[in-house]
Amino acid sequence: MAGKKVLIVYAHQEPQSFNGSLKKVAVEILSKQGCTVTVSDLYAMGFEPRATRNDITGALSHPEVFSYGVEVYEAYKKRSLTSDIVDEQKKVQEADLVIFQFPLYWFSVPAILKGWMDRVLCQGFAFDLPGFYDAGFLKGKLALLSLTTGGPAEMYTRTGVSGDFKYFLWPLQHGTLHFCGFKVLAPQISFAPETASEDERKKMLASWTQRLESIWKEVPIPCTAPWYFGQ
Ligand SMILES: Cc1cc2nc3c(=O)[nH]c(=O)nc-3n(C[C@H](O)[C@H](O)[C@H](O)COP(=O)(O)OP(=O)(O)OC[C@H]3O[C@@H](n4cnc5c(N)ncnc54)[C@H](O)[C@@H]3O)c2cc1C
Repeated sequence: MAGKKVLIVYAHQEPQSFNGSLKKVAVEILSKQGCTVTVSDLYAMGFEPRATRNDITGALSHPEVFSYGVEVYEAYKKRSLTSDIVDEQKKVQEADLVIFQFPLYWFSVPAILKGWMDRVLCQGFAFDLPGFYDAGFLKGKLALLSLTTGGPAEMYTRTGVSGDFKYFLWPLQHGTLHFCGFKVLAPQISFAPETASEDERKKMLASWTQRLESIWKEVPIPCTAPWYFGQ
C-alpha cells in the first residue's frame, strides 16, 4: 500500500541464499506497491550482537555494580545510547510493518538477530513496566517472521519429532514482539529449502510473493497461548 513504511531486519550471511531471495522478493513487491522499504542487513552491517557497557555513552547511573537493563533504560531516557542502537530504533519507530527474515537456528533466531532484539528493543523505547503486551510502546505496528528451516514440514507438526512449529514461535512472537506491543501477522515458514526441489523452491517464493501482494489486508493472529498450544 502506497505510503506505508516497511523495515526488513535480515539475518543471512549470503545474498544468494534462499533467505536472500525471500528478502529480495519482499523488497521488490513492497516497493512496487509504493511502500518505503528499509533493509537492516545485519551481517553486512557487522551489527554488534553483544549487550555490553559500550551501549551506554558517557557515565553510568550506577557504576558500582553494572546492570545492563537498568543502564540502557536510563541511557534511553538521557539519549545517551550508542548510535547503532539509536539508528535501528529510528527505523523501527518509522515502520508500519517490521519483517524479520532469517534461517531458524536452534528453534530460534541467529545470534546476530537475537542481539538486535536484545539491544534495540530496550526498556523505555519498546516497553516499560508497566507498558507491555497490548500496552507495549510499539502498538499500532505490525510484525511478521519470515523464516526458513532445515527440517521438513512433517517434522514440525504436533506429533512430529520436533513438535508443532508454533511452539518455537511462542518466545519470539509472544514473548518478544507482542510483549513490545506489535500486532503479529501469521509467520511465513519456508520449510527445508536445501532439500526441496528447484520447483518446490520456486513455489515457496511464489507463495511469499502472492502473500505480500495482499499483506495489508491481513488480520493479525490472536497472539495468546491457545493459538500456540491449543486448548
Ligand atoms: C547453527 C544452526 C542451527 C540450526 N538450527 C536449526 C533448527 O533448530 N531447526 C531447523 O529446522 N534447522 C536448523 N538449521 C538449519 C537452517 O535453518 C537451514 O540451513 C536454513 O534455514 C536454510 O536456509 P538458507 O537460506 O541458508 O538456504 P540456502 O542453502 O541458501 O538455500 C537452499 C537452496 O535454495 C537455492 N536458492 C536460493 N535462491 C533461490 C531462488 N531464487 N530460486 C531457487 N532456488 C534458490 C540455493 O542456491 C540453495 O541451493 C540450523 C542451521 C545452523 C547453521
